[in-house]
Amino acid sequence: MTRDYDGTEYPDAESSSAFAGVPDGFARLWTPHRIAYIEQGGAAPGDACVFCTAPTLPDEQALIVHRGVKAYALLNLFPYNSGHLLVVPYRHIALYDEADAEEVAEIGAITQTAMRVIRQTSHADGFNLGMNQGAIAGAGIAAHLHQHVVPRWATDANFFPIVARTKALPKLLGEARQEIADAWPRP
Ligand SMILES: [Zn+2]
Repeated sequence: MTRDYDGTEYPDAESSSAFAGVPDGFARLWTPHRIAYIEQGGAAPGDACVFCTAPTLPDEQALIVHRGVKAYALLNLFPYNSGHLLVVPYRHIALYDEADAEEVAEIGAITQTAMRVIRQTSHADGFNLGMNQGAIAGAGIAAHLHQHVVPRWATDANFFPIVARTKALPKLLGEARQEIADAWPRP
């Protein structure tokens, strides 16, 4: 633990390379989202593909909001914005043009549903959708295809610089997962 000037204790920094998400360029001195794993008594193995590992874990642990037939959706542990989801095929493929017709269809359908659900739960004003194909294009985990669904609000431009010691974050991620999973339409 690290003790702040006022005596408040914070978790020490730790590698986030094994988290089920796409690392960005921001250093994080705190990783309270780790609690989503720690509380469940598990952790993603260091060398395993996080997007192959996540579906083997309980929804709450992996922050999965929906499991489809060929693809699933989970909250990104490295969110650009609250509610930042990733839509991922179960199959370990790197590139979009490797996905078969069923995977393409379900990734598309889950993306559409995610937009509707996030609009309903969080009243997002807009979305950024996209796939970074290859490390050169910015993919944090280039080996396993994933589509970003990033909700945007008119007021969110100042969100990025916030690298705060926010103990509320693990609760927010857990609560966000529950809220989105509950709002996800049942077949
Ligand atoms: Zn994989």
